Amino acid sequence: MDPKPLQPFEAYCDHCHQQRPLFLYEPDHNCHLVPVTCRWCDREKQPLLCTRCWGKERELEENTPLTEDEQALTSFFVAVSSRSQRHDDQVAADRATCEGIAAATEEQS
Ligand SMILES: [Zn+2]
Ligand SMILES: [Zn+2]
Repeated sequence: MDPKPLQPFEAYCDHCHQQRPLFLYEPDHNCHLVPVTCRWCDREKQPLLCTRCWGKERELEENTPLTEDEQALTSFFVAVSSRSQRHDDQVAADRATCEGIAAATEEQS
């Protein structure tokens, strides 16, 4: 028996049910900070979509706002990380001061 020629993966799209080359949809957003019901993450299995439906799904995902809890938590993390950034700047400034003092002390001796 002859080996079958390699075929592009074609089957019925989970959305439009047309027979087309399919791509596995994977959510693009990062994991959630709080447990939420997410229509993309909570799927038992990601759909196989044709390019058109895949693009639509991605657009929908990108246009879906975070839940209020997540928004609150995200702004909290942003605030914390910008505070720690300021802390880092302060440490760097302190170090520069110390080095300046050390250099000045060395010059004197
Ligand atoms: Zn489709
Ligand atoms: Zn999700």
